[in-house]
Amino acid sequence: MNWEIVMGLETHVELSTESKIFCSCSTGFGGAPNSQCCPVCMGLPGALPVLNEKVVEYGVKVGLALGCTITPVSRFDRKNYFYPDLPKGYQISQLYAPLCRNGRVEVAGTTIGIHEIHMEEDAGKLYHDPETGETRCDFNRCGVPLLEIVTEPDFRTAQQVVAYLELLREHLQYLGVSDGKMEEGSLRCDVNLSVRPVGGDTLGTRTEMKNLGSFKGIARAIAYESQRQIALLERGERVAQETRRFDEERGETFSMRSKEEARDYRYFPEPDLPPVVLSQEYIKHIRDHLPELGEAKRRRYAQEYQLPEYDGQMVTSHPALARFFEELVGLGAPPKQGANWIMGEVLGALSERGLSPEQLPMPPKTLARLIALVAEGKLNRNTAVKVFQAVFDTDEDVDEYVAAHHLEQVQDVELVEKTVALVLEDNPRSVADYRGGKEKAFGFLVGQTMGRLQGKADPQTVRRVLLEQLTKK
Ligand code: ADP
Ligand code: MG
Ligand code: ZN
Repeated sequence: MNWEIVMGLETHVELSTESKIFCSCSTGFGGAPNSQCCPVCMGLPGALPVLNEKVVEYGVKVGLALGCTITPVSRFDRKNYFYPDLPKGYQISQLYAPLCRNGRVEVAGTTIGIHEIHMEEDAGKLYHDPETGETRCDFNRCGVPLLEIVTEPDFRTAQQVVAYLELLREHLQYLGVSDGKMEEGSLRCDVNLSVRPVGGDTLGTRTEMKNLGSFKGIARAIAYESQRQIALLERGERVAQETRRFDEERGETFSMRSKEEARDYRYFPEPDLPPVVLSQEYIKHIRDHLPELGEAKRRRYAQEYQLPEYDGQMVTSHPALARFFEELVGLGAPPKQGANWIMGEVLGALSERGLSPEQLPMPPKTLARLIALVAEGKLNRNTAVKVFQAVFDTDEDVDEYVAAHHLEQVQDVELVEKTVALVLEDNPRSVADYRGGKEKAFGFLVGQTMGRLQGKADPQTVRRVLLEQLTKK
């Protein structure tokens, strides 16, 4: 039998607000354990939560970017459970009236429905104290704002899942609401998966996979889990509805808890928070001020700048790169030149230093000036790359650097002609080889001439003069 995989995603996004969702504690990462807590986020009796407006604003932005309807009156609910990382004994979430509903996105040629987006608070963390061998609680993450984005069961392939997550991460970064880093846990994804005969119209029993920490891990988990379910069904057995954990090292999923043990969360409306009432003007204001997203930028770069599709992809792979690119173009750099430098030298220099694009130390004016110097014939491309590497980490002025290191391109054609004549005189073998049909000898002679001119000549001029002199005699 031929089987079809059916998947729906629940993705948790950690928002990059300064303060927590219901108190003014910092959301900063890496503070000493329990240094960013207060009676509210620790759930002490009598403490009252106050909603952080930024969380609503960020949630509405994401909802609009994903084509959702914004709920005019949304509410919070309590999800009750006991776990040591949750001192309140309940999580404030939204069950009955979530912030956004009914969205859709196009990915990898299919439409993925967005069932809902709701706001909630994160729990704390347990950590192992190696000195005492004890497990300890760190409540700094309690109350860090999350959005949970729930899709319809519209995914059929791992490729679609990864494409969706990549697009989601891009939207989050362009909207400036989250850094979307999966490795650091600011984007966490649970995959619900079932299988059914191809073309079937009912859904099979699903499992939910947790602990998926990377795009690669997700694709492997999907491959493993779908095969496991298909094998069970082909043996005439049943799939148990359960939560499973993916072990990255072994590449297998393991049962964590079954439906029978499923918790009853005793949801009820949160009595300490009023409903979130959003006016049409508020929603319109946010809609009108949404930043241009990656997709729109790629379309515009292709139309306005005739940038090839691949270049557009690379340049928009991070909003900081796109901003850098637009500033370069604004400073007069030809778009294709700007893109070439970004794809080659800029990305190379960043990865050598282990920096991400928002940490790019070089101001766009430095690269714009380098590009202009090459265009004006004052620097050749190779020397420009050397200058780029020298000034990348500093704010050094390009013109001053070039002058101080005597790097200006040799403009003097007579000097090039004299140098070529000397090179030909000193390398009779190569001259004979070239004339005998060995094209390679030409490259050698170009190299020799460039060498004598400290690499500062215009390679075009060197080639032209060499050709002239080689064919003359
Ligand atoms: P819960 O809240 O109990 O986890 P939901 O019904 O809200 O369950 O669904 C959670 C996710 O699972 C959604 O993304 C949904 O699309 C997906 N899902 C539900 N049923 C199936 C199924 N049979 N196969 C695959 N995915 C499913
Ligand atoms: Mg679930
Ligand atoms: Zn607090």
